[in-house]
Amino acid sequence: MSVVPLPIDQRAAELREQLANAQHEYYVLDRPALSDAEYDRLFRELQAIEQAHPTLRTEDSPTLRVGAPVQSAFQTHRHLVRMLSLDNAFDDAELLAFEQSIERVVGASVHKSGYTVELKIDGAAIALTYRDGVLVTGTTRGDGTEGEDVTVNIRTIRGVPLRLLGDGHPPLMEIRGEVYMPFAGFEAMNEARVAAGEPVFVNPRNAAAGALRQLDPSITAQRPLRFFGYAAVLPDGNAPVRSQWDLLEQLTAWGIPVAPHRERCHTMADVSVWAHTVEHQTRAQLGFAIDGGVVKVNDMSLQDELGVRNDRTPRWAIARKFAPDMAVTKLIRIDVSV
Ligand code: NAD
Repeated sequence: MSVVPLPIDQRAAELREQLANAQHEYYVLDRPALSDAEYDRLFRELQAIEQAHPTLRTEDSPTLRVGAPVQSAFQTHRHLVRMLSLDNAFDDAELLAFEQSIERVVGASVHKSGYTVELKIDGAAIALTYRDGVLVTGTTRGDGTEGEDVTVNIRTIRGVPLRLLGDGHPPLMEIRGEVYMPFAGFEAMNEARVAAGEPVFVNPRNAAAGALRQLDPSITAQRPLRFFGYAAVLPDGNAPVRSQWDLLEQLTAWGIPVAPHRERCHTMADVSVWAHTVEHQTRAQLGFAIDGGVVKVNDMSLQDELGVRNDRTPRWAIARKFAPDMAVTKLIRIDVSV
């Protein structure tokens, strides 16, 4: 029996519905029904349709959204500056296309700036508000504009400093990063849950996101959560320093854990070599889940010039996504069979 393809407007509507459901299951329920690879495939298909037929892009399209609107018992908290998502590159050709899109705006300056490359931690994004160096609020990303105020839970996470090291801190600053659960803690927690007859968690990302939203902070405190920082913003939208590399150094000096294996790359060829090494060598030894690397234009004045696309993704950064992690796939198989 041959399958008759749907007219393009119907296919777009079908994809919007599938993706909106998947976003709800992933961001709100912490229970994804699709694999990330399948989600990314459907997302790209809808993006391609919308690009070819702009009139089919509706205002509520999942391709224009960061995360999902907050729906929980927590108070909401407005971020100082909008939190964004990232566009994806799945191979070296897409990395080169990313560089060309930058050159079209800022020309050869990007070659002087180079790139900072970082691990893409597969966890849940949070924003930490510090007043004069003291932690006052911890918030989930939510829909990018406002998230859930989960301060009581964030205070239980080892590695999140309640007070930054050093002095002379900005009066108000948001430090952003990823809460994650290392594999060892995830496995031990699931084994304990099996022994207690409780349902197991599907993967470390969903376990971390779920733990952040516990109503009882003593439960969050028992979950083996960790944190890596990668961004800081002041109320005027600027970072406290002028390059991404210096920012990671500054975060480290303040006592914020920063992910290992970051590098400064001068060319996109160097970025490709780094990404290849991380995917095929480093990843298996990390002890926590990553789903790629993040490539950021190092110079923040160029970042400002490049700006944001569709209120959703910065033009100066891209996620170089990797193939699904065999370690995570294996964990999921074990969990499903328990
Ligand atoms: P993303 O994961 O594609 O990229 C943006 C996020 O990366 C940031 O918000 C931040 O949390 C994170 N990040 C980790 N390390 C970082 C670093 N060093 N620097 C900057 N950011 C870093 O973003 P997204 O918008 O949360 O989600 C889209 C992705 O989530 C999809 O590509 C898919 O993999 C997954 N997803 C899956 C389903 C599903 O049903 N399986 C549904 C929705 C989303």
